[in-house]
Amino acid sequence: MDSVEEFDVCVVGGGVMGSCAAYSLADAGKSTVLLEQFPVPHTRGSSSGHSRITGLSDYGTPYMADIVSHGVKKWVKLLAAATTKGARSAPLLSVSNDQEVLKAKAKRMEKAGVPPRWIDVDTLNRDYKATFPSDRYAVADDSGLVLIANKCVTAAQFLFEKRGGVILDAWPVKEINAEENWVRVVGPRGVIKCTSLVLCPGPWAEQVLSPLGIHLPLKTLKTGIWYYKIKNTTLPRRNFNDLSIPNSFYYSTPELEYPGLIKFGIHEGVEVSPEEREKVDLSHLKEKVSNYLEKFFPQIESEPSIEESCMYTMTPDEEFILDHHPKHKNIVYACGFSGRGFQLAPAIGDMITAMVLGHDDIYDRTPFLSSRFSRNTSPTVSKI
Ligand SMILES: Cc1cc2nc3c(=O)[nH]c(=O)nc-3n(C[C@H](O)[C@H](O)[C@H](O)COP(=O)(O)OP(=O)(O)OC[C@H]3O[C@@H](n4cnc5c(N)ncnc54)[C@H](O)[C@@H]3O)c2cc1C
Repeated sequence: MDSVEEFDVCVVGGGVMGSCAAYSLADAGKSTVLLEQFPVPHTRGSSSGHSRITGLSDYGTPYMADIVSHGVKKWVKLLAAATTKGARSAPLLSVSNDQEVLKAKAKRMEKAGVPPRWIDVDTLNRDYKATFPSDRYAVADDSGLVLIANKCVTAAQFLFEKRGGVILDAWPVKEINAEENWVRVVGPRGVIKCTSLVLCPGPWAEQVLSPLGIHLPLKTLKTGIWYYKIKNTTLPRRNFNDLSIPNSFYYSTPELEYPGLIKFGIHEGVEVSPEEREKVDLSHLKEKVSNYLEKFFPQIESEPSIEESCMYTMTPDEEFILDHHPKHKNIVYACGFSGRGFQLAPAIGDMITAMVLGHDDIYDRTPFLSSRFSRNTSPTVSKI
């Protein structure tokens, strides 16, 4: 018979969402265990790697403004509490051939109290030694940061343990049995009995949630990150988005993780399950980024020196999902962050804590409910 450990709350998934939720719950006084299937830290999910962009103008929907602001402000506090240098200031520069797109961003900045800084194309080209045509506009959001992803996740886990939280890694959850007042979480290394369960499974959401009767229209995508040599020059320390292409964008973070190299990516990927990602080839995406650099950035080599990859979990409307199990209100799940949730994670952690404690929602959750997509059934025993 496996030993049974008891906690108030069990959080499944030691990526950025699960780690921030666990910290927030422990900070609220709940005895909490964080279960992660791989040894932490690991590179198989969505939260690994070096840099993530933040910017108060980053999200298009007005209801996101307070959540982004909460997330970014709490990252700064959390990193300070952990004495971790996990964030660097880096304005978010957005470029587009559609001035209306940028005007909307500028409005969001004004609302957040950050004066938008318009940059004309000549200055843009001078700053980046670039060759953008005269139909490009650019606006800088000076609230931007680069979050150093690995350090952020480690800091959240460190503070969680400091509050008495327990991390069990290399602990894959294989079965979830929900009863009226408690949940049993079963894995090859034991059994956890808890009053509330929080599921933050990232790209494994379908495997974890569908046996519980929660069926979501999620797509998991492998995407690439490429690092390119900067040719004998220095480029501005800015995050960068080019929003000139429909339904996608190019992005970049400043030289940081590898000396002399700058990261570029494209907000696209190839659908694949997280276990099979090595089978997928991203050459066509790499080629798009290389062609883009060749066209507009002659001071950056167009062949990458380093290639890395990561997973996106996309929803059809690219808004995340944060909800209770339809039958077991003591089960909360958060997933589908659609390639842009890192900056929100401490806010999501606090929203989850409010849900677990039965408090009023901190922010209106209507846009994030799964009922916007699906009809759920709800078995009480699930084998993953
Ligand atoms: C290339 C790239 C660039 C990005 N850029 C940005 C950016 O600039 N700004 C931004 O805000 N966001 C960005 N994002 C998005 C952000 O990184 C993700 O939204 C976020 O990391 C999602 O975290 P998560 O905790 O939901 O998922 P994950 O990090 O994948 O965590 C889920 C965890 O659950 C564990 N798990 C799953 N199933 C089980 C099980 N059965 N038992 C135990 N553990 C289990 C997994 O092993 C995993 O560790 C980017 C993402 C990528 C890939």
